[in-house]
Amino acid sequence: MNAPIISFEFFPPKTEAMEEKLWDSIKQLAPLCPDFVSVTYGAGGSTRERTHRTVKRILDETKLKPVAHLTCVDASKEQVDEVLREYWASGVKSIVALRGDPPTGVGTKFVANIDGYHNATDVVKAAKKIADFDVSVSFYPEKHPESPSLAHDIDVLKAKIDAGANRAISQFFCEPDKYLRFRDLAVKNGINIPLLPGIMPVGSVKGYLRMAAGCNTEVPAWFIDAFEGLDESPEVRDLVAASIASDLCTKLQTEGVSHFHFYTLNKASLALATCRRLGVKS
Ligand code: FAD
Repeated sequence: MNAPIISFEFFPPKTEAMEEKLWDSIKQLAPLCPDFVSVTYGAGGSTRERTHRTVKRILDETKLKPVAHLTCVDASKEQVDEVLREYWASGVKSIVALRGDPPTGVGTKFVANIDGYHNATDVVKAAKKIADFDVSVSFYPEKHPESPSLAHDIDVLKAKIDAGANRAISQFFCEPDKYLRFRDLAVKNGINIPLLPGIMPVGSVKGYLRMAAGCNTEVPAWFIDAFEGLDESPEVRDLVAASIASDLCTKLQTEGVSHFHFYTLNKASLALATCRRLGVKS
């Protein structure tokens, strides 16, 4: 099987120590020649400056293609447009356009800023109006927590594509069937942009389960069992995590998936090990 295309997600660091860890990870992962690397945007735009700084530094100091996440939470249309204009002017031409989570917490009702955009579709439209951005959007193989049905999610994805989205990246999931079922439904509904599976190797089990609960990702019993008793054995846990992530990718490869997007949480080793198992080397 051919080595897949890969890409990585990072988050903007809060402290100097975290900044060092991020750049150490970027340096370790860059030789794998990812298609792009994306940088998240904190809830309510809380990381606006840090996201911008990280994206700009990647652009200035590496050969990697940075992709900036952008949400419309707690921001007016003008504020979002300003960020978009700044990115385009500084040479950042790719974004992940998102609505973002309600500032009152996942699961509560999203209320748009009174002068703001309402959802990711609006952000895609805004970006495309400002310049010919390359735009990625999200999708949720197991349904967005606020969505009434997968059919609604498909409609939302179609609206984002009609607005100009070039590809979509999935929320993380544990079992290949979840992604494949969504992909089948998407294709049946005429969606033909790349649907990249988001792969998150387990770093901390507690953190993984918390995130999974927040975003409707089902964690099967066998998965939890695999990590049982490994809280104090990080090295063994990492081996199990990389092996589970590479099994998931291999199964998806046999179903024709050729691009994997890794949620690195700024830790290189798990993504590196998983990529190596898939034949991606420096
Ligand atoms: P949307 O796609 O806008 O969907 C949200 C809801 O809005 C839909 O269920 C629907 O009810 C409604 N809606 C959307 N479009 C339409 C339309 N055209 N007509 C009618 N209703 C519509 N969060 C962050 O804060 N920062 C990040 O950097 C970040 N990165 C992410 C990256 C990926 C790959 C993923 C999968 C998620 C990410 N998130 C991030 C989380 C995301 O912001 C939340 O899941 C949020 O709740 C939904 O955002 P969205 O862009 O998926 O919303």
